[in-house]
Amino acid sequence: MSELPYPYEAQASQALFDRAAAVTPGGVNSPVRAFRAVGGTPRFMVSGTGPYLTDADGREYVDLVCSWGPMILGHAHPEVVAAVQEAVTRGTSFGTPGEGEVALAEEMVARVEPLEQVRLVSSGTEATMSAIRLARGFTRRAKVIKFAGCYHGHVDALLAAAGSGLATFALPDTPGVTGAQAGDTIVLPYNDLDAVHTAFAAHPGEIACVITEASPGNMGVVPPLPGFNQGLKDACAANGALYISDEVMTGFRTSRAGWYGVDGVRPDLMTFGKVMGGGFPAAAFGGRADVMAHLAPAGPVYQAGTLSGNPVATAAGLAQLRLLDAAAYAKVDAVSARIQSLVTEALTKEGVAHTLQNASNMFSVFFTDRPVRTYEDAKAQESFRYTAFFHSLLANGVHLPPSSFEAWFVSTAHDDRAVQRVADALPAAARAAAEATA
Ligand code: PLP
Repeated sequence: MSELPYPYEAQASQALFDRAAAVTPGGVNSPVRAFRAVGGTPRFMVSGTGPYLTDADGREYVDLVCSWGPMILGHAHPEVVAAVQEAVTRGTSFGTPGEGEVALAEEMVARVEPLEQVRLVSSGTEATMSAIRLARGFTRRAKVIKFAGCYHGHVDALLAAAGSGLATFALPDTPGVTGAQAGDTIVLPYNDLDAVHTAFAAHPGEIACVITEASPGNMGVVPPLPGFNQGLKDACAANGALYISDEVMTGFRTSRAGWYGVDGVRPDLMTFGKVMGGGFPAAAFGGRADVMAHLAPAGPVYQAGTLSGNPVATAAGLAQLRLLDAAAYAKVDAVSARIQSLVTEALTKEGVAHTLQNASNMFSVFFTDRPVRTYEDAKAQESFRYTAFFHSLLANGVHLPPSSFEAWFVSTAHDDRAVQRVADALPAAARAAAEATA
């Protein structure tokens, strides 16, 4: 048994975690799930309904992770479940084109104006990897600018986040990524347009694209400063590079048209995942028709997938998107605002230095009294307070992301009862954060 930092029980989860560790590295299929940043036993969930998850020990949690974003209607939404059941009975994969994928693409294109054409894939990683390949193929250039603290999936060239100096040539950040794979990646500090201009000046005619999270949520929520995304777009346009807006997290969440619906900066290419899959593996990339025309079979840039446009995944995604009308976004925004103010109130009452940042209904708390504009700022917070805060909430039935560098998510299903449970759990958590020591 691993040591629990707080006195509560998770015996069935621990037994499953032990079994998992024997057959799966670290006991999980995606690293953050292992609770390494906060310690303790990850909860193995057996079911989800609306805003709640139930773990293997039979304990219920208000879910403020929502599967890291996708579950914007809550868990097991009846209409999404019905669409999935209907699709499953017709067969689960054909390896041929089908109407469901056309309908999903049409729905996306109708919502996001710069999205003229879209290609469906199975994960956000695949979407960003393919978008980068297409940008390189289209521009016939090699170099890619990304920002420290932005996560675009585990694409070799995009894992590099080391070095916050100007125009740092990234070294591979993980064993297994070679210098050759990362050598064309330029990592710059987020929200720093001067650094972008300097990089373009240092590499004339070499930069294929700038990829950025439309509004970052992977270093905690760090929105772009006013004019930053427009500045990226303008720098790309002036230098013959493509501006890629990664909306895997923000897409169809931060508004009907994602972050594009908020800031209106028109990308050349965009990437999507999470919400558009309705809890299934579906993702996409798309944008300018003249750029997408370079993709096989229309053009020479190869990209493919056995399960791309899977009929069950597309049915789930389409059902979810069709339910996301103005009223649904108003509901998510309202519940997010309520929880944000409850968190601020509880922490303020206990005198805990914190900064709550949001990008529409996505938000997170940094344990620092300074605004967080860059990855360096985010890393300067007192993460040990988050650990105490997290475990107190978990013990009282509220499941936060198990890291202080992740966004919190809510859904249309977070009703008064769920919000009240969060409100009831917050005072003790704020006290725990106040009393925590490094
Ligand atoms: N891009 C962003 C902005 C993300 O937040 C993520 C995942 O969290 C990805 C890409 C990768 O998506 P996936 O985990 O589906 O591969």
